[in-house]
Amino acid sequence: MARSLAVHGGTAVRTRSWPLWPRPAAGAAAAVQDVLSSGRWSISGPYRGTESRERRFARAFAAYHGVDHCVPAASGTASLMLALEACGIGAGDEVVVPALSWVASGSTVLGVNAVPVFCEVDARTLCLDPAAVEAAITERTKAIVVVHLYSAVADMDALTALAERHGLPLIEDCAQAHGAEYRGTKVGALATAGTFSMQHSKVLTSGEGGAVVTRDADFARRVEHLRADGRVLAGRAPAPGEMELVETGELMGNNRCLSEFQAALLVEQLKELDEQNETRRRNAALLDRLLTETGCTPQETSGGTTSRTYYTYAARLPEGEFTHVGVGTVTRALTAELGFPVLPCYAPISRNRLYDPRSRRRYALGVEHEERTDPKRFELPVSEAAARRTVTLHHSALLGDESDIHDIAEAFRKAVRHGAELTD
Ligand SMILES: *Cc1c(COP(=O)(O)O)cnc(C)c1O
Repeated sequence: MARSLAVHGGTAVRTRSWPLWPRPAAGAAAAVQDVLSSGRWSISGPYRGTESRERRFARAFAAYHGVDHCVPAASGTASLMLALEACGIGAGDEVVVPALSWVASGSTVLGVNAVPVFCEVDARTLCLDPAAVEAAITERTKAIVVVHLYSAVADMDALTALAERHGLPLIEDCAQAHGAEYRGTKVGALATAGTFSMQHSKVLTSGEGGAVVTRDADFARRVEHLRADGRVLAGRAPAPGEMELVETGELMGNNRCLSEFQAALLVEQLKELDEQNETRRRNAALLDRLLTETGCTPQETSGGTTSRTYYTYAARLPEGEFTHVGVGTVTRALTAELGFPVLPCYAPISRNRLYDPRSRRRYALGVEHEERTDPKRFELPVSEAAARRTVTLHHSALLGDESDIHDIAEAFRKAVRHGAELTD
């Protein structure tokens, strides 16, 4: 019994606990405490004589990316919608997005009344396939959103060249890639704009949160208006007790502001990001080696990548193994061995049960729009095949030491040994 799979009542590979996530930075508690008694909990509250935490985070995050502008926002979803609207995207425009991603890649495009065009990914990197993007472009295409998925950076040489050739803005969705680099430049700083999520699971987090970074001052100004009900922060500090947000009326917006608590937390968490990314990279390199020995194929990254960020560790199951069962059966077995969730890769958004434009009356914009946003019109064999064979682990599994990585590899070896015993 001891040798059989934990899902079949055997002894699990591991019962010890895993690293806790989120992990509060050294200065986090004091920074949040400071905000509590500061008299300003949001940039939309009166100025109190000191720079807001939101501005401090914006400065630090822009500098981190080597760009001049960062506009913090309430979430990754908000950041994507802000960036799309700042590109001028709206009613009926087509936006090319990868099929393999979190549902937000589709729902944010719908959210600005545009039409998501789901596009195939490269089977090795799981990121947008430039050739497929080229084929998806029509005269109605108005932007491309690329996602740096899991631990990969997309092929930015090809995608930036393609976007330029077609005169299209390119938005980098960096919700899973804080700190990754391509040819020595941070992702998010490679194209028109970069968007980030600081939701609980991400490698930089304040529970919820987001940001848009860009080199373009006019673009940043539009994002600022859009995220604060048409107001922008004054260029110079007002008198204490007065509003720092100025009502310009240049561009209407909605409130998508980050609170001072979140911004204060992010200033501190950002200080520890590089070190945590380094730990994850080191552990991922060991896991790559050990899982390759079991026949698995770890996710690859594009050729120009100079530094990876592991938000999720992804690997394709060994050729010829587990062929009689679904990937969910394999991930359940691995989860039982590790006491840590091993999950299947995202399904293509076109068949994600969370993606259903017709469930919302706000998208009932006429028969043509409903047809164009019908997810059933997409055929995505490469993304489907990747989804059927790829398993993933959250980055917190990579935040400990080598013994954790050996446990993960042992769970995979054991699952392969007992693969024939699994049934759906
Ligand atoms: C998390 C995530 C988002 C959405 O971010 P939220 O902060 O949850 O709104 C968007 N895109 C990708 C790729 C993500 O992983």
